Amino acid sequence: MSFVLGLQCRECGQEYPKQALHVCENCFGPLEIVYDYEGIKRAISREKIAAREKNLWRYRELLPIDGEPTVGLYSGFTPLVRAHRLGALLGVKELYIKDDSVNHPTFSYKDRVVSVAISKAIEFGFDTVSCASTGNLANSVAAHAAKAGLNCYVFIPDGLEQGKIIGSAIYGPKTVAIKGNYDDVNRLCSEIGDKYGWAFVNVNLRPYYAEGAKTHGFEVAEQLGWKLPKHIVVASAGGTILPKLAKGFKELVKVGLVEDTGCKIYSAQASGCAPIINALKKGTDLISPVKPNTIASSIAIGNPADGYYVIEAVRESGGWGESVTDDEIIEGIKLLARTEGIFTEPAGGTEVAVARKLIESGRIPRNESIVISITGNGYKTLETVAHSVEQPYTINATLENFDELYHQLDHPARARAVGI
Ligand SMILES: *Cc1c(COP(=O)(O)O)cnc(C)c1O
Ligand SMILES: [Zn+2]
Repeated sequence: MSFVLGLQCRECGQEYPKQALHVCENCFGPLEIVYDYEGIKRAISREKIAAREKNLWRYRELLPIDGEPTVGLYSGFTPLVRAHRLGALLGVKELYIKDDSVNHPTFSYKDRVVSVAISKAIEFGFDTVSCASTGNLANSVAAHAAKAGLNCYVFIPDGLEQGKIIGSAIYGPKTVAIKGNYDDVNRLCSEIGDKYGWAFVNVNLRPYYAEGAKTHGFEVAEQLGWKLPKHIVVASAGGTILPKLAKGFKELVKVGLVEDTGCKIYSAQASGCAPIINALKKGTDLISPVKPNTIASSIAIGNPADGYYVIEAVRESGGWGESVTDDEIIEGIKLLARTEGIFTEPAGGTEVAVARKLIESGRIPRNESIVISITGNGYKTLETVAHSVEQPYTINATLENFDELYHQLDHPARARAVGI
């Protein structure tokens, strides 16, 4: 049973029946899924959700498919890690990491949006799925398409990290690298989508795709014992996840699953590609596109399709945003690894470094609950930190050799994590 009423334009309110359409035919505004929240409120409860499988479909009433989900049956429900050691270092009382670096099966938040988009593509009867990607989305589309038995073409900018390229190719799609940046890829994909009639998960299926991002926030609330955190920090690229976290939190209130205690949402970008943060700081709604120049390739989108809605959601929530340099991003990656044992990619390093900056500047108070969303995995982007870590000491297999080495090493002592 589906609670989806149809599609509606965010700008002019025009309504449409469910279909593979992403912009309003009147005003070119983006389309959103509309649900029957009264019906959902009657249909679900905390207990009902708790009894379901630990995957993102446990919130299925708030997701836009009509029948049984067919894709992503193991995706989502990633750990919410209580970060005692990082929290102590930053001087905050209650810090959590929402760890989508271990999302199944391709280790990023994108497994959420793709699970929903491809389930919907199958309902619509498409046999070919595709995407315009900065890397992680291509990995996820390629993997889910393999499992679902769909034809697959993925489009990426050239020059991506090996882990992202091989991390798509291994699943057997056709991978097309475009000479240019993501914005060039995206422009071409709109044309290909129109001409070839494929399901481009983040183009013609974008309204459905975007809904999958809400599950990141649903899980945070459930894992906190059906409470909203006071603050959440997440990276922004095209601008999908941040506004959808805001939408998801509002929906939880609407259907009676959490109390409306308010959650401030903060956008994180790399200084080398910060069109959203620039606009936020200037106090304007108008995003000026930039040419990306950063190691954070998965969030290097210079002309974000939904950037305006990121700014709107940030402001409405009372949150803020920051950008950080590539050096700060690498520091962020190392900090998370060395305090919490979690290896993230530059997008996650951005999330950590921005959270740190916002805490240290007093924007985020130290005595309230804070969640840092970690959206991608560091094993895909080894080359970005290869020169920032100690190389192994190579010795012969003798105790004397080790003794000799041991006396040369410094031995930093670690403090055990204690609850605060
Ligand atoms: C795609 C992506 C994001 C956020 O992108 P949005 O388009 O703003 O939703 C964040 N982190 C990683 C690792 C990503 O791949
Ligand atoms: Zn419209």
